[in-house]
Amino acid sequence: MGKAIGVKLIDELGRRHDGRLPDQMRPVKMRINVLENADGSALVEYGRTRILAAVYGPREPVQKFMALPDRALLRVRYHMAPFSTEERKSPAPSRREIELSKVIREAFEDIILVKYFPRTAIDIFLEVLQADGGTRTAAVTAASLALANAGIPMKALVAGVAVGKIEGQLVLDVDEIEDGSGEADMPVAYAPDIEKITLFQLNGVLTREELERGLDMALNAIRELVELEKRTLKEEYVSTEEV
Ligand code: ADP
Repeated sequence: MGKAIGVKLIDELGRRHDGRLPDQMRPVKMRINVLENADGSALVEYGRTRILAAVYGPREPVQKFMALPDRALLRVRYHMAPFSTEERKSPAPSRREIELSKVIREAFEDIILVKYFPRTAIDIFLEVLQADGGTRTAAVTAASLALANAGIPMKALVAGVAVGKIEGQLVLDVDEIEDGSGEADMPVAYAPDIEKITLFQLNGVLTREELERGLDMALNAIRELVELEKRTLKEEYVSTEEV
C-alpha cells in the first residue's frame, strides 16, 4: 500500500494505471472442479487476485454439539496464504481474516437453503493464493461457484466486486494500488436473480449521488459475473481475457 503516492492513477483520457476504463473489470477467469477431495471447488481470478474455494457438506459436523436442530450450520474460513502478499503474511488468522470470514458467511446465510439440511455442517474454505485488491469480493464469487459445484441448493448465484473512488472518479474493481491511495472503497455482493444485496461495505466518503452511481456500477458488473458463473458451471472454465 501507499506505493502510488505522487503517481497519477487516472490520466487525462480517463485511463487507469493498468489501462482500464473507469467501469472496466480486470480480466476474469473462473474454473470449477479444481480439487479432488472437496465436494465442490472453484478457482477465481480478477486480474492478479486469485482465490481458491473448497466446499464440504452438507455433512455431519465434526463437533456434534455444534449441530443445529432446524438447519445446516454454515462455516466460512477466509484465509490469506503466507505467499499471497508481497511481504509474507503470518499464517495465523488475523482479526481482518476473522472479520472477513464472518462478512462472507453472512453473504450466503440467506442464500443457501440451510433448512433442507438440519443437523449438518456446510464448510466453505477460501484461500487467497494471490492478493491484489478485491479479495473479499472475488472470494464471494469463488464461494458461489464452489457451492453450486458441490450441488448445494441455493436461492440464486452470488458474485462480488468493489467500486472505489480515486482522484475524484468512481472506478470498478479496484486493485491494491488503487485501494491503497483511493478516497473510498465499496465492496458489494449481490444475487441478481433474487435482487438481493448480501454484502455491502463502505470505507471512506462518498456523496449520496456517488453512492447510488457506484452501486449501479457494481450491480451491473455483478450481473455479468453471475452470467460468467453460469457459463462456468456448464463449461468448467471461462475467461474474459482476449487470446
Ligand atoms: P480486499 O482484499 O477485499 O480489497 P482490503 O481492502 O482489506 O480487502 O485489502 C486490500 C488489499 O490489500 C488486499 O487485496 C491485499 O492485496 C492487500 N492486503 C490486505 N491485507 C494484507 C496483509 N496482511 N499483508 C499484505 N497485503 C495485504
